Amino acid sequence: MRGLMQDRPLLISQLLSFAGTYHAEREIVSRTVEGPIHRHTYADMERRSKQLANALKRLGTSAGDCIGTLAWNGYRHLEIWYAVSGSGMVCHTINPRLFPEQIRYIVNHADDRYIFVDLTFVGLMEKLEAEMPGVKGFVIMTDRAHMPQTSLKNVICYEELIAAESADFEWPEFDENTASSLCYTSGTTGNPKGVLYSHRSTVIHSMMANQPDALGLGSRDVVLPVVPMFHANAWSIPYGALMCGAKLVMPGPNMDGASIYELLETEGVTFTAAVPTVWLMLLQYLEREGKTLSALKRVVIGGSAAPRAMIETFQRKYGAQVVHAWGMTETSPLGTLGQLKAGMETMSEDEQITVQCKQGRAIFGIEMKITDDAGKELPRDGKAFGNLKVRGPWVVGSYLKGEGGQVLDAGGWFDTGDVATLDPAGYMQITDRSKDVIKSGGEWISSIDLENAAVGHPGVAEAAVIGIVHPKWDERPLLIIVRKPGSNVGRDEVLDFLKDKIAKWWMPDDVAFVDELPHTATGKLLKTKLREDFRDYKLPTA
Ligand code: AMP
Repeated sequence: MRGLMQDRPLLISQLLSFAGTYHAEREIVSRTVEGPIHRHTYADMERRSKQLANALKRLGTSAGDCIGTLAWNGYRHLEIWYAVSGSGMVCHTINPRLFPEQIRYIVNHADDRYIFVDLTFVGLMEKLEAEMPGVKGFVIMTDRAHMPQTSLKNVICYEELIAAESADFEWPEFDENTASSLCYTSGTTGNPKGVLYSHRSTVIHSMMANQPDALGLGSRDVVLPVVPMFHANAWSIPYGALMCGAKLVMPGPNMDGASIYELLETEGVTFTAAVPTVWLMLLQYLEREGKTLSALKRVVIGGSAAPRAMIETFQRKYGAQVVHAWGMTETSPLGTLGQLKAGMETMSEDEQITVQCKQGRAIFGIEMKITDDAGKELPRDGKAFGNLKVRGPWVVGSYLKGEGGQVLDAGGWFDTGDVATLDPAGYMQITDRSKDVIKSGGEWISSIDLENAAVGHPGVAEAAVIGIVHPKWDERPLLIIVRKPGSNVGRDEVLDFLKDKIAKWWMPDDVAFVDELPHTATGKLLKTKLREDFRDYKLPTA
């Protein structure tokens, strides 16, 4: 027997209609590429998105077309997201930190019809235009006064484009499984692969992301997504904020400590999210300038492991609760979040932080297991580590145009490429990417655990661990360190510091010091490059 409830599709445009109706006067504050801070409301955003939807029609685009964006977090980028998906087209957020040849590849692979470009990236588009023949035009996201001189053909000024249109527009209704947006993986090996989200996956993911045990967003929150909209949909925050009517603060191109601090304080931000490298810059700034944080309540750290020292500093020194999160472009991206469970409030602060160092518990909708290489499920005892597999309504089913072939196993599980433990309380801990794990004498050493332990040293800014070929053990760990400014910490001091923090046989065989570490387009350590740089490195133990 079928249920008798209404079969209404879940559509992204409904988020905008909701915010525009019930939170019309709630503000969106953006630092612009042009410089000044811009303020408007959800009512303004709804009106302007409808004008843009009319403009897209006039440009001759239609349902199913792919529209690219090359832009920072700001109010115009939000309008484009909603106008494009709301009209039944696909919003392709392009990560400008990819190599130019990767950008050219994904624009062509996705068949982008138009590209909306922040002023910052006009030069990049000029260099690539000739190699992207399918792109009919470029909309520069600014007003007439700031339009640049450019060699791009068919350039349109964003503010002129929408000013010419009426705000009279009805969002179309269609099947909730229609594609809504597209994000490519960063592709450390081979070409990036396209993850094509649907309205249904996006709305369900945002509903779950807003739950109290997940991001916990509410109408009284002031939300600053530092994580870019081109990095896995800014972890759903630009959807979740409209779903609950939170004030949105958009950082634009400036993610340095001083700029983020200024927004946090002047706008009264209660909730923010970014990768560890961003927080490292903020914490260094706060320490250097002797500043405190007055309004911030929660800070989400994800994308790479949050080091213990970072969690401790946010909570103990600045009074902001850390929520450690794990996910990937393929999981929309949220999979696990590290909120404490009932009963944990009586733990000591140190014990609580030990729990928070793990990547968190699955949110409802995500199923998760770890297996050995033969696919046999491993125990959830917090000790066994294996390949992390997930499934759920916002997990990728296949990549765009079938790239990479069949990516699910017979049971519908997606292999994340991460190696993890699951504990009896449900907390998952990433020990490595499967490609980065160090295999020493048949056993595995977690490079992430070593890195986290090393950055606990007050003189260490950032650390990476890679395996170096060893005649007896196959591989042994090499610790590579960026010192904090003014620090002259040396090899023996670091190794001594690690002694009581890691298993004896995990002790790195050597320490190398560098000025900076290579990162991927989404801010992760680029270990493929490090392995290349240190290919001929001779360990003293070899
Ligand atoms: P991306 O698709 O660029 O967001 O990358 C996803 C990958 O980032 C995951 O498969 C993990 O390897 C890594 N990752 C994300 N969050 C975390 C975290 N909290 N700790 C460790 N690794 C993480």
